[in-house]
Amino acid sequence: MSEMGLIFDIKKYSINDGPGIRTTVFFQGCPLACQWCHNPESQPRKPVLMYRANRCVLCGECVDVCTQHSITINGTVKTDRATCEGCGTCAEVCFNGARELSGYQASVDQVMSEVLRDTPFYESSGGGVTFSGGEPLLQHRFLLDLLHACHEHGLHTVVDTSGFAAWDVLNSLREYVDLFLFDLKLMDEERHIRYAGVSNKLILSNLKQLAETGSAVYIRIPLIPGINDDEENLRRSAEFIRALPNITGVELMGYHDLAAAKYQALGLDYRLKELKAPGSEQLQSSASILERAGLQVKIS
Ligand code: SF4
Ligand code: SF4
Repeated sequence: MSEMGLIFDIKKYSINDGPGIRTTVFFQGCPLACQWCHNPESQPRKPVLMYRANRCVLCGECVDVCTQHSITINGTVKTDRATCEGCGTCAEVCFNGARELSGYQASVDQVMSEVLRDTPFYESSGGGVTFSGGEPLLQHRFLLDLLHACHEHGLHTVVDTSGFAAWDVLNSLREYVDLFLFDLKLMDEERHIRYAGVSNKLILSNLKQLAETGSAVYIRIPLIPGINDDEENLRRSAEFIRALPNITGVELMGYHDLAAAKYQALGLDYRLKELKAPGSEQLQSSASILERAGLQVKIS
């Protein structure tokens, strides 16, 4: 039997997750907790229930099927997340789509059968498969089996990562990864802990080792106004990147504020709800700082 893993989505015809047309496999679970995360449902390392009140017709079907007695209705539907086991039964009976479970078990064979359907698109566009998340390195055995399978079928592979994992883990995958998409968030360790939940020491050291050992790496900086768009952080980022072998550029990805509804559906407080997405002038001004420090910059 092939290795099983927890994923939350498989997206077809993706054009922003590496070269060409790609299928992106999203892994459930992430060791970071970035305040700006636009996929907060991917952070828990287990399936997690989402509830959208605007789709709920208060029919009560979900209450009756929950063996944990986690759901109550009294004018509105409430779910006790402390007792909810994430079994998903309530989502199955919710015909209005108000309840949805993020995260499901899938085998390597199941994922590959989905991935292989689009082989003609990969071949015609120079695309392939991207493993993203969440954090794919968190399920590295499952990831390795998927990478092996892709390799056997001659598919181009990308791993989209925060870089937060033991070096041995990254090193064990390198041979089967054609390109790493590597996120660089904040250079200051204390600020990284405050805004992303973990230290950046391991991340920076892994990025350095990946570049030094000859892996293809494409660095992306998510630009979050007021958090990492200050001149000092951008300059330090540029200095760090310029010291890496074989890397001359970076992609600047503007924060977007479309995730608020997801936080609400998860019963979480969205700490950045007042934050607006950066405009083109703001993005250009940040790009100029990186360019003046000697980097080629792509804005997305
Ligand atoms: S089954 Fe869905 S629509 Fe019905 S009460 Fe539950 S959440 Fe609302
Ligand atoms: S996911 Fe399962 S345990 Fe949680 S509320 Fe729904 S039925 Fe109950």
